[in-house]
Order: sequence, then C-alpha cells, then structure tokens
Amino acid sequence: MYWPKLSSDEIKLKVFNTLNKNTNYRKTPILGIPGTYLDAEVFNNDAPFLENAPFLSTLIANPNHIGCHTMGETDKIFKGTQELEKELIKLCAEQVFGGEVDSQDGYVASGGTEANIEAMWIYRNYFIKELKASVNEIGLIYSEDSHYSLSKGANLLNINSIVIAVNKENRELVLSDLENKIDLALTRGIKYFIISMNLSTTMFGSVDDIENVTTILNRKKIAYKLHVDAAFGGFIYPFSTTASCYTFKNKNISSITIDAHKMLQTPYGTGIFLIRKGYMKYVKTSEANYVPGADQTLCGSRSGANAIAVWMVLHNYGSEGWKIKTQALLELTSNICCELDKLGIRYFRNPLINIIAIHASDIPTSIAEKYFLVPDTYEKKNEWWKIVVMSHLTKESIDSFVNDLKSTVTTKAELTLKEC
Ligand SMILES: *Cc1c(COP(=O)(O)O)cnc(C)c1O
Repeated sequence: MYWPKLSSDEIKLKVFNTLNKNTNYRKTPILGIPGTYLDAEVFNNDAPFLENAPFLSTLIANPNHIGCHTMGETDKIFKGTQELEKELIKLCAEQVFGGEVDSQDGYVASGGTEANIEAMWIYRNYFIKELKASVNEIGLIYSEDSHYSLSKGANLLNINSIVIAVNKENRELVLSDLENKIDLALTRGIKYFIISMNLSTTMFGSVDDIENVTTILNRKKIAYKLHVDAAFGGFIYPFSTTASCYTFKNKNISSITIDAHKMLQTPYGTGIFLIRKGYMKYVKTSEANYVPGADQTLCGSRSGANAIAVWMVLHNYGSEGWKIKTQALLELTSNICCELDKLGIRYFRNPLINIIAIHASDIPTSIAEKYFLVPDTYEKKNEWWKIVVMSHLTKESIDSFVNDLKSTVTTKAELTLKEC
C-alpha cells in the first residue's frame, strides 16, 4: 500500500487545477443544465480566504458528479473534478483494498447506507438477469450485529433477510447457525444469496471471520455474491494489520463499502462504494437520458466537493501518515482498556479497531450518560455501552471518565498493580 503525502500547497494546486478543468458557470455560457454555482448572496464567492480554501471553493462552484465516473464516460462540464473522483476510487480500491490496476468501479455515495444498498441492488439484479432468479428466491445473509442499513435495503429491494446469530461474548458469527439457516432457506426455495460481511460492526468493532464463512459457502456450492460492509473499519483495519483477508485479492469478495465521513473526518456525504468491474451495468438506469453514460448509482445528483474532500484528507497524510494516525487511535483505545482492566470492568474490544463495548452492568448509567456513551439499544434495557475513540478525544476527557469510574465503581483495583 502506498500513496504520497502532499504539502498543503501541492494539494491546493492540484485541486484548483482540477476545478479549472471544469467549465465555469461564470465564464462560459452554459444554457442547458438545471445547475449553477451556489447562491452568491448567501454563499460569498469572492471572500478572500477562498483562494486558500480548495474544498470550499469547489463547494461554491458546485460541480455535479451525477452518475459513475470510473466507467469511461464523464460529463464534459465537470470533467476536471470527476477525473479526481476517479483517481480517488482507484486509490481506495487499489492501495487501500489491494485491487488489481483498473479492475474496480465505484463512486462517492451519500454514505454507508447507500453504498450497502447499491451492492444489494446490483446483486439482486445480477441474479435476476444472469440466473433467471425471481425476487423471492434471493436471500440476504448478515449477522445480528450488522448495521440496520442491511434490513433497510432488504425491505426496499423486497428480498429475504437471513439473520445469523453471534456469540454473545466474542461477537463471532455462530457458524452452525449460518449452516442451519442456509439449509432452511434452501428448503424454503431461496437459491441465491447475497452475503454482507462486517469489516467491523458499528457497535462492537468485531470483524466477521470471512475465511470460515466463505469455506462454508463454497463447500455448499450455493450461488452467492459477497459484499463487505467496511463503513466503519474501512479506514482503520487495512492500516492496523498487514494480514487482512478483506482485500480484492480475495476472489470471494465482489464489493466494499467504506465511509470516509467516519474515521477519515470528511464531511457527511462521503460514503465510498467499490466493486469489481463488470457489475455496475446491472443497475444502469438507461432512462437517465440526460446523464452522459447513463446513471448506475442510487442517488442521482451529488456534490463533486465530497470527492475532493476525501482526496484531500488522504493526500494530507499519505499512506504512512494515515498508518501513524491509526496507530495513535488504537493506542489510546488500548490505554482506556487497560484502565478498565484495573477497575475490573468487562468489555469487548478487537485490538485492530478503536471501539470498546463495555458491559452495561459494570458501570453506572449516570457516568455512561455523562460521557455520551452509546447503548446497544434504546428500546429495552441495554446490555452494552460503546466508546468510539475518535480524534476529538483528549487525554483530559479520558482521565476525567476514568476518575469518575474510579470513584464510583467498587473494584478489584487494589488487587491489580499493573501499570498502563
Ligand atoms: C455507519 C455504518 C453504516 C451506515 O453508514 P451511513 O454513512 O450512516 O449511511 C453502515 N454500516 C456500518 C458497519 C456502519 O458503521
């Protein structure tokens, strides 16, 4: 994995060059499209700081990135920034996720939800078109710890949800349950499967064991397509291990969702969808007459500034810089875990992910609420409280949390002499 770190001047130059390759609404008569720059009375386009603000300048210029730009055709009007989106998708697919050169398509989606649904939509249509499946013969398999966007997508696309149990302590998929539910589905006439694997669940940071799952799927010789939901872990896990099975080198994987607006700290609206070439065509809406190359995405119009933002953050750090940032967050997570150990507080944590899920019965609700810990459910008494170690966490806030715990939790602390 490698991409370079650029200086802020280099980033600025690149983005402004890119933006200048777009046709400017102010300089060229563009008569045909229902788009323009942001309202000039509200969004000041000549504020002096804009010269040094490539992202805001792009936001105000308001390029539309409607459609998918990795497939050859780009819009003439916004070709500069659309090319940069293409470069970004290539970087994510090839450098972050080990894909072969020019072998993946993708786009910057509104978020992980859209990217997950895009994948499900593609595979549903693939099974219908290529294997003559009917919709009720298609099942979507995912663990009970998966993000709710999967059940949302199954509902929208009218396909069967098949939810697999996890072990309540280590949060691993119960493989016998997977086998049983597949067998049951087959007896119910479900013949085609879409599998979504978690490259970290949202609540626990647990990572599904893809090798064990694909061994079962391949042994059963069922027709399946496998999607990876790396909305949370996509910008952490590939940087925290070199031994990932979650790359495009793994032939069983067809597509990946990553959210830049979580760990990469980009604006909302920066979900990233990646898929092997040859699949986007299953969701091509040919009726999108006014979009060059038609539309293969779920969302339609979307701001080109989003792709710019992700590109900028990635190049501000470079691959090595991002590894260092990841390591720092993981170390901070480990430090908190160490304090919890000293207090005898039980938790789940994957050492490669910056999430700690604490047993709710081990800490007072008042402390959890004071620090905005997130419960696993709002509908009944929660079993877990989650900490996500993000960039805004300071040593002070962590110390304060730990001190509050120390003063209220009756502990085995005296027994533990270990230093963090
Ligand atoms: C956050 C998240 C999503 C949904 O992402 P949005 O960007 O909120 O749509 C999907 N899957 C996982 C694992 C997530 O953590």
